[in-house]
Amino acid sequence: MKSAKIDGFADGKATVKFGTRNQGIVRDRKDGYPRYTRQYAKFDRIQMKLQLVNYTCGACQHQFDAPEIPGSDYGTFLLRTEANDELRYVDGIADPTFDEVDHLLQEEPAVAALPARKRTALLWAVYGPLACDPDSQGQAFHIGLKPRCPSCRTGTVTYWEFTEPARFIDIDVRPVSHAAWNGLTADEKQQRVAHAAGIQPGA
Ligand SMILES: [Zn+2]
Repeated sequence: MKSAKIDGFADGKATVKFGTRNQGIVRDRKDGYPRYTRQYAKFDRIQMKLQLVNYTCGACQHQFDAPEIPGSDYGTFLLRTEANDELRYVDGIADPTFDEVDHLLQEEPAVAALPARKRTALLWAVYGPLACDPDSQGQAFHIGLKPRCPSCRTGTVTYWEFTEPARFIDIDVRPVSHAAWNGLTADEKQQRVAHAAGIQPGA
C-alpha cells in the first residue's frame, strides 16, 4: 500500500492499493467496509473503495488517474460537476429519488415511447441537475461526467480504461443531497421533469 496524489480530484490525497480487481473486491467485503448500498442515509460521507481509471486528454494528451465505481457495484453512480472539484455518489437502488425521477419521466409520453436504453440514458442525464443539490459553487452534479483534464482543464477526455492491474483507492465520498428537490410540490416536480425530458441526452 502507498499513498499517491490523484490528479483531478480536489482532496488530492488517497490511499492507493495495488492488486487485481477481483482481489480488491473480495478484500472489500471481508474487511467489512460500510455497506453503503443500503445504509448510505446514515452517513454524512462514507469510505468507498473506488477503482482508478486512466484517462487521456484529447487536447493535450496528458494522462491522469481518477476514481470510478467498480463495475461490480450495480446501480451506484459517481457524480461530478463541470468544475470537477467535488464528488458525490448516489445509490440508485436505495435512494428513493432515483426511482421517483424515473417514474415521473415515464409519465411523459415522449419518454415512455423511447426504447429502454434511451430512457435510461435520459434518466442518467437529467437526474443530477433535477434532483440533486448543486456543489458549493452552485454547479450541477451529473452522473457519468468525465473528469476534467488537470493539466489543461478542458475536460475533453478522448480515451479511458480501468487500470490494469487494477488499482483501488479508499476515499471518503459524500452522498448526493436533495434539499431543493424535496422542497418541491408534486406539480413542480412533474413540470421540471417534463422540461428536462425535452432535452435529449448526449449519450
Ligand atoms: Zn489536457
